[in-house]
Amino acid sequence: MSSPLLYPSLTSDAPYISSGDGAWLYDEQGKSYIDGSSGVMISNIGHGNEDIAQIASEQIKKVAFAYRSHFRNRHAEDLASKLVELSQDKSHVFFLNSGSEANDAAVRVAIQYWQELGYENKKFVLGRNVSNHGNTIATLSVAQNKRREEIEPLWLSVTEHKLPACYCYRCPLGKSPDSCQLECAQALEKQILELGAENVAAFVAEPITAAAGGVLIPHDGYFAQIRRICDEHNILLIVDEVVTGLGRTGTWFGMHHFNVSSDISVLGKGLNAGYTPLSAVMINQRIYDVIAAGSHNLSIGHTHSGNPLSTAIASGVVDYLVDSNMPQVVKEKGVYLRDKLDTIAAKYPYVGDVRAIGLLSAIEFVQDKQTREMFPSHVQLSKRISAAALKHGLVLYPCRGLQPGERGDAMLIAPPLNSTYEELEALFQRLDLALQEVFSELG
Ligand code: PLP
Repeated sequence: MSSPLLYPSLTSDAPYISSGDGAWLYDEQGKSYIDGSSGVMISNIGHGNEDIAQIASEQIKKVAFAYRSHFRNRHAEDLASKLVELSQDKSHVFFLNSGSEANDAAVRVAIQYWQELGYENKKFVLGRNVSNHGNTIATLSVAQNKRREEIEPLWLSVTEHKLPACYCYRCPLGKSPDSCQLECAQALEKQILELGAENVAAFVAEPITAAAGGVLIPHDGYFAQIRRICDEHNILLIVDEVVTGLGRTGTWFGMHHFNVSSDISVLGKGLNAGYTPLSAVMINQRIYDVIAAGSHNLSIGHTHSGNPLSTAIASGVVDYLVDSNMPQVVKEKGVYLRDKLDTIAAKYPYVGDVRAIGLLSAIEFVQDKQTREMFPSHVQLSKRISAAALKHGLVLYPCRGLQPGERGDAMLIAPPLNSTYEELEALFQRLDLALQEVFSELG
């Protein structure tokens, strides 16, 4: 019987999931699946965590909700302290419910910061091509992806400016990573000079572009250049750590790979590892001091922001990550993952590139390894691979829009951070079966 529930393509004939355990999911027919992309890089500590279940149940019995204007929240304060410590560069935190909301709030805080200092015209917030920061109007405006393109004709001109992606395999500026002068970073300076620094509030980027571009890892010196440019032109740096935050890449924060501080960091997904919705916008002392000395008021937030249940759960998730020394675990498992990916790349002629950092990785498929030519869109390669994987009991997230017009095929491999080696082995066995099946159809 068809359901009145709306799915992305309106209706769905996918199986119903009834339970999960570690990196495994089970449907109502009892078929098992490896959660190879942690859903959408969210189920970072896997399914069925007993400690989290207990924290949630105890919290629900204690109190359902208490509003932040009326009462303080001990779980939220504890969680904020833990996140500040792990960040190494932020001083204060505000909680929201989704990555989109938190990025939206980050943009608003950046504009507020400059307004409090009397810079009324600083309103441009620059982003990059091939990026995703969420599905609200503000986050679509700073990103560049298909969802944005769908409503772009209605768009305000303040949102049009986009910088090149750090896509070294297909450098949008035609450079080579061995000899380039980080022209992708210099493009920020050019753009600021064109718009006038007095009109630019912030630059937003993921430390490592996750799903939008199929794991794009910037050149080592990229963020140091970006920071220098932001400082020289009085621009805030906002980093979207919705995917890279809290251990996914083998460091607590993605920016720790580059030893560069941002002014605002955004967390989501892995913060509560999928158990309930929660996200966070984290600011540094510089921003806090200006707002504290100025309006002393934050006009961000939603009814459920920082609710007792989600913050209690996230506090438990962060404790679990800290107690397990998760970044180190991820680093070690990342070596194993890389090795498996390289084996796949060597085995199949259609694997053009593998990009991996910690347990965040993508395989990019090409028609021709030499020319790096993409498959035509009508082949629907990533869609077919993810369907074949699902048949073989592996859930994988296809990356969309490596190039404008939804061109390019890549699959994201990002299992739960606490996956066992047996689970990782099962992932790659099932991936191999799926690739064999689809590639044999290609001839
Ligand atoms: N930022 C990044 C890097 C993301 O990958 C996503 C979602 O995929 C978001 C922000 C938006 O998060 P949410 O879907 O929780 O609003």
